[in-house]
Amino acid sequence: MGRLAVVGALLDGKPVGLRAEDGLIAELGPGVEARDGDELLDGNQMALVPGLVNAHTHAAMTLLRGYGDDLPLMQWLEEKIWPVEARLTDEDVYWGARLACVEMIRSGTVRFWDMYWQPGATARAVEDAGLRATIGAPLIDRGDPGEREALERTALESLELLGGRQRIVAALAPHAIYTVSEPALRWIAELSEARELPIQIHLSETEDEVSDCLRAHGERPAAYLDRLGVLGPRTVLAHGVWLDDSELDLIAERGATVATNPVANLKLAVGRVFGFRAARERGIPIGLGTDGAGSNNSLDLLSDVKFLALLQKHEARDAAAVPAAVAWDVVTGRCAPLLGATGRLEAGEPADFLLVRADSPQLSLGDLVSNLVYAASGAVVDTTVVAGRVLMRGGEVEGADEVRDRAVERARRLGIT
Ligand SMILES: [Zn+2]
Repeated sequence: MGRLAVVGALLDGKPVGLRAEDGLIAELGPGVEARDGDELLDGNQMALVPGLVNAHTHAAMTLLRGYGDDLPLMQWLEEKIWPVEARLTDEDVYWGARLACVEMIRSGTVRFWDMYWQPGATARAVEDAGLRATIGAPLIDRGDPGEREALERTALESLELLGGRQRIVAALAPHAIYTVSEPALRWIAELSEARELPIQIHLSETEDEVSDCLRAHGERPAAYLDRLGVLGPRTVLAHGVWLDDSELDLIAERGATVATNPVANLKLAVGRVFGFRAARERGIPIGLGTDGAGSNNSLDLLSDVKFLALLQKHEARDAAAVPAAVAWDVVTGRCAPLLGATGRLEAGEPADFLLVRADSPQLSLGDLVSNLVYAASGAVVDTTVVAGRVLMRGGEVEGADEVRDRAVERARRLGIT
C-alpha cells in the first residue's frame, strides 16, 4: 500500500504534518514532513478532522430517493418501497450503493453500517469506492415457517458473500421484530454468539411497534429482544425512539449500541424523539445514522448532526442538552466503539481522515467543532482519505459522473424516475 503525507494542515488550530503508511497514521504532529515517494496532500487552509461514521443506512436506496415522499412509514414501505425492492437485481444495488458511496465520500463519511438486499453487490461497491462498511442482508420471515428456512439460507449465504473482503465486516441484519419471528431471532442470536458477528436491527421506531409487541408478547421491544438473546454488546439498535426508561436500563446493562436517525424520524413523523440524554446518562453507546436515502433523503452526516443536536435541545427545552462537542463525538464514532472507528487522529490509528476547508465561509471564524456541527454541510469537505487512500481531492471523486449516469439508468429500468 502507498504512502501519503499531508503538510501544513491545521489540527486543533495548529499547523501539523501527517504521514500515513500501510493504511495507518505513521506520524502526526508539528514538524512532520513528507518523505521521498510520499503522495502529497497540501493542507494549506485546511483543517484535519476524523472521518464520519454513518451508524445506520441502506446505501442502495439512493435509487429510491424521493420515491413515495410524504407517506407514513408502513404505507410508504408496503405501497412504494417493498414492491420495487422485490425487483432489485445485483447491478441495481451495485450502482445505487456506488452512488451512495460518492455522496458519502463527498460529505466526509468514511464508514457506514448497511442493511440491504444483495449485500454482495453493496460490498463490491464499497470495495470499489474505497470506503469501509459493516453490511448485513435484511433477514425477514414474517412468521412463516417456510420463509424461515429461506431466512437462514439468506443469512448463511450472505456471510459467505461478505467474508474475506477488504474493509468489509459481515453482520446479521434481522429487519425488525415485526418482520422476523421469535424462532428466527433466537437462531440469529445463536449464530451471532457462535461466530462473534454483529447484529443490526430496527427497534422501537414507531408507537405501533411497541403496542403490537406488548399485545403479542406481553413485553416491550427491548425486553423481548433480550429474552431471545439478541440484546448484547455486538448489537446495534436503529432508532430506539419509543424506548422507555426500563428498556434503556436493560440496553445499558447488556452493552448494546443505539443508532439514532433524527432526520428520518422527523421525516416519517414517528411522533417522539430518541431519549438521547437518558441513554447517555446510562452509558449507552450512541451513533448517528442517516437511514436510507428513501427516508432522509440525504446521506450528509454534517447536515444530520445539526438535527441531532437541535432536536434534543428543543425536546429538552435545554440549549445545553447536546453540546456541539458531544454531537461531534457521536458523528465521528467516539461514543460507540462497536461501530468500528475510534474518532482519534494519532499514530497507529487507521488513516481515515478529512481535510475540511478552513477558509470556507462556514468555517473561517469561530470554533471549528461548533462550526462543523451547526454551520457546515458536507460541502466543506475537500479531501477524504480512507486507509491512507485518497478517495476525494479538491472536492472531486474519480468516476463520479459515470456512477451517477449508471445509477440513473438503473432507476429508470426500475420505473422509478
Ligand atoms: Zn433503516
